[in-house]
Formats: sequence, structure tokens, C-alpha cells
Amino acid sequence: MVLKERAVPLKLYGLGALEKRLGIEDENYSYIRRKRLSAQAGVGGEEILDRVFLNNKFNHEYRIIHDLHLSANSNFQIDTVFFTPSYVVVLEMKNFAGRVRFEENPRQMIRTMPNGQQDAYDCPGVQLEKNSMLLKEWLFDRGFDLPIYGAVVFARSSTQFENTPPFKVLFPSELPVYLRKIHNPGRELDSGTFQMLAHELANSHVVFNPFPICKTFRIPESSVMTGVECKHCAKLGMVKLKKGWSCLPCGFVDRNAHQQAIVDWFMLFGGKLTNKECRRFLQIEKAQTATRILESSGLISKGERKGRVYSMDLLEFFNKESFKKRNR
Ligand SMILES: [Zn+2]
Repeated sequence: MVLKERAVPLKLYGLGALEKRLGIEDENYSYIRRKRLSAQAGVGGEEILDRVFLNNKFNHEYRIIHDLHLSANSNFQIDTVFFTPSYVVVLEMKNFAGRVRFEENPRQMIRTMPNGQQDAYDCPGVQLEKNSMLLKEWLFDRGFDLPIYGAVVFARSSTQFENTPPFKVLFPSELPVYLRKIHNPGRELDSGTFQMLAHELANSHVVFNPFPICKTFRIPESSVMTGVECKHCAKLGMVKLKKGWSCLPCGFVDRNAHQQAIVDWFMLFGGKLTNKECRRFLQIEKAQTATRILESSGLISKGERKGRVYSMDLLEFFNKESFKKRNR
């Protein structure tokens, strides 16, 4: 039974908004693009993990908690927790193409792409150990001492290992057998305690807020291109006409194109949006037009007339969006 589903990481939305608004020639463009691609690869890998649990059922009591962020003595994030009344399994997901090698002292993972390019990463075994330890502490703080197992799941069975990883590594297809083999119940929690604890764990999840993205990734505001994006050809700079927004290069007309630009502004810069800043970012001239847009965008407003500023609760916004998607 899945207690907590995975949500698309907010960071991915924010990085997407930033990437499309940095010029290709901007000094930070390739850095932000790499960050966005890596967040996206993470999502792809995690979906594979989710499918394994969807297609495999276990004939004992268990709960699955995906994408768990906890704030204990330090913040930690676990891709998937397989929680049972007698033990807990921590699973970390990695999605890497090419060949990988593990180095000791300091622990690192070196990835080599087919074209020979090499990149160094934090060793996933370190993250696994740290998360297992923190989860053990979390349980201990509540008076429970369950054995914790852990594995790093590599999403692609095409990943080649140049040496034996110094920690448990699995491909997704091996996971059901791995979990079934662990199952050897010793002293179990009674059913009521188990359910209570599993719910407490899922409910302890704190949403990681990556906004404002420009601040998180240290991108100067002056690097960010303004304008309303055309959904059809992805160019910035749609023009406001009476009937809506018009894209001069492709001719597409969209009544509500400004809505995404406003969400972009809050993801990138955050804080209070003024009428003047709205005109700058949406590239419109009339204060009256900006007022109409701001007043009809479901924002939180404060102050009167010229001093009026607007803000947006992005966490609530994306929460509602993902609810809409789930129920579509
Ligand atoms: Zn267009």
C-alpha cells in the first residue's frame, strides 16, 4: 500500500522557467540546463521505481512512502521507504547512462560517457548510509529500534560497473526478489503501532521549497529575459492585444498566456510583485492593463491604489495543480 505518492519536484518547474529565460550565450545557461536535465533524469528513474511497486505486491504488511523529506537533526530526502512491522528498507534511485566507477578516500562516483567524457559525483553509497542512519535516529527518537536495510537502485540495466560498488546495488527488476529475501520477521510491531508509525512518518514530510529559483541558484536577475512565452513556438515576447496575446513570429493567439509568465515571475524572483514590475516582465505599457491582469490572477493583494503589491503562495498553487492532474 502506497502511503505517499511522488510529486514532480518543484525545482524542476523552477529550473524549466529559468532555462527558457536565460539566453543560450548566458554564462550560466549550460549550468542551469545541466541541473534541469539531472532533475528530469531523477524523475524518470523514480517513475521506474514506482512501477516496480505498482506491479509487485507482497504478501505481508507493508507501506510505501515515496519521496520523503524529513527535517530531523539535519534535513534528509529519501527516494523510497519500504516500511514493514519488522524492518525498514531505504531505496535511493540513480539514473546514469554510461560506465561508472567507485573511488575510495574520498568516496566518489566517476561516470564515463560513451564519448569519453568523465564526470565526478558524490558517492550514492554515502547518501544511502546517511539516510539510513538518520531514519534510524528518527525511529529511535520515537522509541523504536527496527533494523534498516538499504540499496541504491540504478534505473538503467545498461549502466556498466567498472568495479564492485562498496554498497548494495540493484537494477529495478531485482528489487522484488531482494525485498522478498529480506522478509524474515523477527520481533514485529503490532498492527496498530505499525500503522500509526507509518502514518507519522508519511505526515512528517516537509515540502522542500526551492523558490525563488534565482536566489537558490545564484543567478543575477539581470540575466533573466522578460516577456510572455508563446506555447506554440516557445518564443518570448507575445504582444498584448484586445483579444489576448499574439505571437508575431508564428501568429498564435492565446487569451491566457500571461498566467504562466506570472507564475514564472514568482518562481524566479518571489516576494512582492508591483504594477511597474509586472509591466516590465510582461512587456506591457499601460498600468491599467497590468492592474486588470494582476487583479484577475488569483494573487494575494495588499495595499491600495498605487501602493498595491501582489504575492503568490507557490506551494499551495502547485499542490492544487497536482491535485487537478491526479483527478483528471
Ligand atoms: Zn509563437
